[in-house]
Amino acid sequence: MGKRSADDPVTMLAGVGASRARRLSALGITAVGDLLRHYPRRYEDRRSAKRICELKDGETALVRARVLDVSVPPFAARTRAKPPMRVTVTDGSGSMGLVFFHHRYLNHAFRKGEWFWVYGTAQRGFGAPSMAHPDFEKCDTEEESAPKDTPGGRGIVPVYGLTAGVTQRFLRGLVRQALPYAELFAEALPKALSSEYRLAPAPYALHSIHFPPDEHALKAARLRLVFEELFLLQAGLFWIRARERDGKKGIAFGGPGLDEFARMLPFSLTDAQRRSISEIYGDMEKAVPMHRLLQGDVGSGKTAAAMAAAFKAARCGYQTALMVPTEILAAQHFAEFEKVFDGTGIRVGYLAAGLTAKEKAAAKGRLAAGEIDVLIGTHAILEPDAAFAKLGLAITDEQHRFGVGQRLRLREKDERSDVLVMTATPIPRSLALILYGDLDISVLDELPPGRKRVRTRYVASDKRDQVYDFAESEMEKGRQVYVVAPMIEEAEETGETGEIGEITDEAGETEAGSEIGFGGGADGFLRSAKGLAEELTARFPARRVAMVHGGLPQREKERIMSDFIGGRLDLLVATVVIEVGINVPNATVMIVENAERFGLAQLHQLRGRVGRGAEKSYCVLISDSGSPVARKRGETLAATNDGFRIAEMDLELRGPGDLFGVRQHGLPELRIADPAKHLRVVRQVSAAASALFAADPQLLHPENAALRQRLEEMRAEFGRADG
Ligand code: ADP
Ligand code: MG
Repeated sequence: MGKRSADDPVTMLAGVGASRARRLSALGITAVGDLLRHYPRRYEDRRSAKRICELKDGETALVRARVLDVSVPPFAARTRAKPPMRVTVTDGSGSMGLVFFHHRYLNHAFRKGEWFWVYGTAQRGFGAPSMAHPDFEKCDTEEESAPKDTPGGRGIVPVYGLTAGVTQRFLRGLVRQALPYAELFAEALPKALSSEYRLAPAPYALHSIHFPPDEHALKAARLRLVFEELFLLQAGLFWIRARERDGKKGIAFGGPGLDEFARMLPFSLTDAQRRSISEIYGDMEKAVPMHRLLQGDVGSGKTAAAMAAAFKAARCGYQTALMVPTEILAAQHFAEFEKVFDGTGIRVGYLAAGLTAKEKAAAKGRLAAGEIDVLIGTHAILEPDAAFAKLGLAITDEQHRFGVGQRLRLREKDERSDVLVMTATPIPRSLALILYGDLDISVLDELPPGRKRVRTRYVASDKRDQVYDFAESEMEKGRQVYVVAPMIEEAEETGETGEIGEITDEAGETEAGSEIGFGGGADGFLRSAKGLAEELTARFPARRVAMVHGGLPQREKERIMSDFIGGRLDLLVATVVIEVGINVPNATVMIVENAERFGLAQLHQLRGRVGRGAEKSYCVLISDSGSPVARKRGETLAATNDGFRIAEMDLELRGPGDLFGVRQHGLPELRIADPAKHLRVVRQVSAAASALFAADPQLLHPENAALRQRLEEMRAEFGRADG
């Protein structure tokens, strides 16, 4: 027999053939080790049994009982009816019926006189209680028996995320089989670290996270695995940062200082902008490539910092690439850069997928010939044939929309170039450390002067009429209005999203808690951009109403946006395409329909579209969702304008999923750690990783060899991320 390894395919395990293996792969499980890393979503406490006579209707409980009778109905082939199988059990206090629908595989599971642990939800009518599809496990005698190595029985029982054709029972059995492989995982954490932070050994943690003997073991296991996951993430980013910089020659930009740039602007820089630009200039002047994140709330003036950096690069004869997530934003930046750089001789170019082939070719030609100093565009900039004559600076705006991989790819255009990434997603500093561990961070924590706070209200849809009357009164004063809908057309929502196929009741859990919004999915009627555009066109015949959404051709989108920016439209119905970056100072009203469909941070971004000029501005969130979470979100938004605070609330209310958009960051998926919940561990991990790299920057110490190897693998994966 060959050596066992955690990489062995799952088909090594009993009961897994090709078709089961295929189903498991939908859960990301292909190797035996993956099973051990498929951590439970939650646990069921099945340690103490209830008496049947005590069971209440709807109560989920464990019962120990003996089989009195089994009735397996014959399969009625002619009608194809499949009547359920009924098993009657008793524990002395009363009897109970167990009901199984798809029961063919269970026909021989129960025999008269045998004892079982049964776990399920009791239904109580007038007669004896019953349980439909309970979990069960045989126990040897009438005496209480210790939990055994069969799934579904007693103890603290894991509940896993499932997929079609994979049941809890089956998965628990497989994980049991895989447990011996826990010894085979290479211990990535250095020993000194494990002992300093009193972390449980990996094999113990892997055992106990699946089948914890008690709460203490579960806690220790979880701590160990959360620590490990966050530590590897942090150390991985530190490692990338070190590798990216080590021995890499950068460009030591000379040229203009801050004041020369500041003189070109129509406004004076805020202190925060001055500080951040100084930090950026400091990096640019060093002969080591810059890797800096500029973090600043919506409207804090990040664009000016990008301009400052591009200005310095251009003055030194280098090109700048500015990559943004949407074409609308690219077009707007393009216009702003042209205005500020007018008369300086700095040539600004534009490249996006929406251009004609001829226009693209022309832009690329000028780029390669060095006739463009600052190229602004979407990820079209990443195309291999977009070749820069002399790239010196790569800037990514709204970084949270891109991944680490894309960031690295933009830099690959020229290894020596400086990298600046900008994001409006404010996150607590300790979290930023983890997420942006490979970057230095500057923060714009100040808004330009004169900004008025946007008045925010959360209202039910029976107030819609008043809301739109108010919008009309603003338009009457010459102001402009945004109306945002959660989707383009009604049809989008009509499709069935549930899983189809032979699924047990349990499989329903797979999707639970993963919807985009909150409050448990659709809250009644959902408005669409198209529907709203029709409604509002009819309602405001004297106003110029238009609609923009991601489904429109690029030219169309641009025309509409530039009409709105230029004041040739009064009311713009949009989907979230306007979320990022759009700047129209004359717009004073933001109305969000079905606000429950948006994340808190997203709503904050939307609100940031107004309040950009001198006029008083308003944000109205319309929602009929009565859920407490929805109310809490509404209150939070109304109460604060502080992006950091809102980000924290968003984390608390819905977890890091969307905000961190771990996939958006191109970081490995977090399986057990939740940086928002595990803040204390986050801090420990950052400190531990910093100390480790300070002591052994190259990880050459033999004790760090396993870690080094692991981090090298991670680095290779990052490079592949995002294609
Ligand atoms: P964001 O950080 O959201 O990208 P922008 O760079 O789009 O913010 O800036 C928002 C608005 O504030 C723009 O109209 C910009 O011209 C203006 N602005 C930026 N900095 C200042 C400043 N120091 N004083 C006044 N207005 C400013
Ligand atoms: Mg911006």
